Formats: sequence, C-alpha cells, structure tokens
Amino acid sequence: MINRLALIGLGLIGGSLSLALKERGLVGEVVGYSRQLQTRLRARELGLIDRPVDSAAEAVRGADVVFIATPVQAMASVFAEIAPELDPHALITDGGSVKGSVVAAAKTALSPAQWGQFVPGHPIAGTERSGPDAAFASLFVDHRVILTPINENAPEMVARAVDLWQSVGAVVEQMSVQHHDHVLAATSHLPHLAAFGLVSALSRLEERYEVFRYAAGGFRDFSRIASSDPQMWRDICVANRDELLPMLDHYLVELNRLRQLIEARDSAGVEKLFADAKAVRDALYCPATSQS
Ligand code: NAP
Repeated sequence: MINRLALIGLGLIGGSLSLALKERGLVGEVVGYSRQLQTRLRARELGLIDRPVDSAAEAVRGADVVFIATPVQAMASVFAEIAPELDPHALITDGGSVKGSVVAAAKTALSPAQWGQFVPGHPIAGTERSGPDAAFASLFVDHRVILTPINENAPEMVARAVDLWQSVGAVVEQMSVQHHDHVLAATSHLPHLAAFGLVSALSRLEERYEVFRYAAGGFRDFSRIASSDPQMWRDICVANRDELLPMLDHYLVELNRLRQLIEARDSAGVEKLFADAKAVRDALYCPATSQS
C-alpha cells in the first residue's frame, strides 16, 4: 500500500498508473505536478490525482513513492528540482522510454544515497494518444514492464518497484540499461521513425491529396504510430541516438537490398525476402497460422 504517490507528468503513462492503483485501492493520496496548470486541473477533474501542486519539489514532499512520467529530456530538470525534497525512504522510479539518458540525468542530480533509491523502469505499453484524457486503468494489464536496476539499488528498492508494477497487472522483467536501449531502439524507436518518415515523405508528394484519399487499410495500420506525440518521440530519438542510428542504417541497407531486387526484376529474390519477413511476423503474432 502506498500512502502518498507523487506523480510528475500527468499524461497517458503517469495517469494510467495512478488510475490502476486507485482502482485497486492501493494508494492513499496522489499528488500531481505537470508543467501546465490546465493539465493539472484536468488531471484532478478526471480523478488521476487528488491534489495538484505548483512544483515537482512540492509534489515529492512526504511521498513514499515518486513516479516520473514526463518526456525523457525533461527528466534532468525534474531530478534536479526534486532532489532537495525527497524522503530518504521513498522509492523513486520512472516510465521513460530510454534508460541511458535518464539514468545519467538521475546520477548527476541525486545525492549518492538518493541514487540508490532510483530504480529505472519502462512499461512496454502505450497508445498513440497522449495527455491526461488518454489515461486508462487497464493499460498495463498483461503488458511487460522492464526495470533496469543499478548496482547501488538495495534489493528492497528493486522489490518495491517490482511489486508496484505487478500490483497493476504487469509482467516485470529486468535487464541492463544498455541492453534495454539497444533492444528498444529496434522494436519501438525504429518503427516509429519509419512511420513518421513514410507519412512525411508522402506528404511532400505533389499528388499527396490523391495519395491520401486512396490510402487503404495497410497504410492506416502502418502509419498509426505516426500520430504519436511529436515532442515525446523527438526526445526518445535524440536521447537514444547512439543505439538508434546503427539500427536505422541496418534498416536502410535492407530497404536498399529490396530496391536492388526490384530494379533487377528479381521476382524470386523479392518473394523470398517477403516470405521470410512474413514467416517471422506470423510466428510472432499468429503462431497457429504459421505452423499450419
Ligand atoms: P504524455 O501523455 O504526453 O504526458 C506527459 C506529461 O508530462 C504531461 O502531463 C505533460 O504536462 C508533462 N510534462 C511535459 N514536460 C514537463 C516538464 N518539463 N515538467 C513537468 N511535466 C512535464 O506522455 P506519456 O505517453 O505519458 O509519456 C510519458 C513518459 O513515458 C515518456 O518519458 C515516454 O517516453 C514514456 N513512455 C511512453 C509510452 C507511450 O506509448 N506513450 C510508452 C512507454 C513509456 P504538460 O502538458 O502540462 O506539459
């Protein structure tokens, strides 16, 4: 049971965690801060928080759990602001999609003792919607949450972070910060880049109005994640630049290979590439079909 949860960032991820805890009766009071007053008031209206406050520092005062769910590049200033007010027994954790830059920011801002209280995390759950209105209580049920504990974490702090996520229905896994950023660059950050890039490229065509008028279901499916929040994804791509760029180069090599096959009218080569990709995709999402 959490007595007081400090929520910094009142959008999809922060708001959903709060709703999930509240729905299960696992939190006493939720104190919330986000940059804009209108976000804080809306979060209270929607029941995501009980008490809006005017600063991150004020939010963490007396909190036994602190959850930071702002865009990742904003976290450095949040850590700096909250450090003087943190309770020495509080669990500090976050939901940022990149871990290397967040961990570096926390290490710079927190004292050595506070550093051991910070258990970095990333829920592998989300939608393309953002802001307080996007939050919903079941977001994390049966979804993975990756924790990337640091050496200085006491086992008790890590256990509390595991409990927090399991209590809202998530499946918790642990890995290193570097491994997290490498894997997520491939499975999440690169697909978003591809979707933003495709929509951007088509929108620059002279015949774009016609192109979008005749867009079929495939385009709608593929481009959905290009509706995600631009600021959030700007932060993720820049913060994970070192892992993302090699992934992007790897993808460009593959696109170029496909281009060459088509240019050479190599039907067998094109079909083989498509068939191999289909087999991988089917095995991931429709295993029964792929075995038949
Ligand atoms: P969101 O819906 O856009 O919410 C972000 C919140 O942060 C808003 O309440 C915003 O409030 C606040 N904020 C922005 N800058 C701030 C600052 N400098 N100080 C204080 N508050 C600030 O974003 P989200 O989807 O919840 O994402 C939050 C975090 O979770 C990000 O780090 C993201 O990488 C991670 N994440 C996202 C997803 C996803 O699919 N969306 C999945 C997993 C993890 P104002 O409007 O008042 O600025």
